[in-house]
Amino acid sequence: MSRIPLIAANWKMHKTAPEARRFAEAFLPRVAGLDGIEIALAPPATALHALGEALAGSAVALAAQNVNAEPSGAFTGEISPGMLADAGCRYAIVGHSERRRLYGETDAAVAAKARALLEAGLRPIVCLGESLEEREAGRTLAVCEAQLGGSLADIELERAAELILAYEPIWAIGTGRTATPEVAQEAHGFLRERLGVRFGEAGAAVRILYGGSMKPANAAALLAQPDLDGGLVGGASLDPESFAMVCSSAAAGRG
Ligand code: PEP
Repeated sequence: MSRIPLIAANWKMHKTAPEARRFAEAFLPRVAGLDGIEIALAPPATALHALGEALAGSAVALAAQNVNAEPSGAFTGEISPGMLADAGCRYAIVGHSERRRLYGETDAAVAAKARALLEAGLRPIVCLGESLEEREAGRTLAVCEAQLGGSLADIELERAAELILAYEPIWAIGTGRTATPEVAQEAHGFLRERLGVRFGEAGAAVRILYGGSMKPANAAALLAQPDLDGGLVGGASLDPESFAMVCSSAAAGRG
């Protein structure tokens, strides 16, 4: 099955609204001619509106970095799926390892967020991946399997095609240490097989992104792997030129 690659930028806690607008001005002309891929930018919530306006009329989508599973209520500081839809988001990242580790987000919480996003018409980008300790203990695949099962609990078969997974080995995030294409493919191939068990044939439609120090120098080799369907890019997405180069690698791989 052919899956359209998605390259998503995770800006984390970087960029004000004016900075996001300036990024769009420099970035959009660089990716205007790229075919056969999808691109999304996930700014901090305070820049969603400004960036949404700057992206209007382009093929680049807006994404959020987090969401609350509830539709509304007394949840100080939180943002609902409906509010993200209203802000123009098409995607939302859930279960990033920083949120799991620093804010105690569990698989059950991630599953509830993914379900709520789908109900609101957004596409969840569900992150999972092992720590260095878990890899060194030979537990990579077991950890991925457990996170996959827990984070996708109760997602209906019919919604599988709208789901996106991001395999992000924690030891490769923000460290400059990238998984080799072979190491990444081993995890992606395993996740693909487990998706098949979970969703049957529909599992083949789920895109699996790689995240962990992806940059212009390594993107093409990673994206050439059969089960890598794009990237979730942190550090290298903050600069319009380097992020455009990653996007170009994905588009070239399709040509
Ligand atoms: C991320 O945080 O999702 C990520 C992949 O970051 P980096 O590209 O900086 O490793």
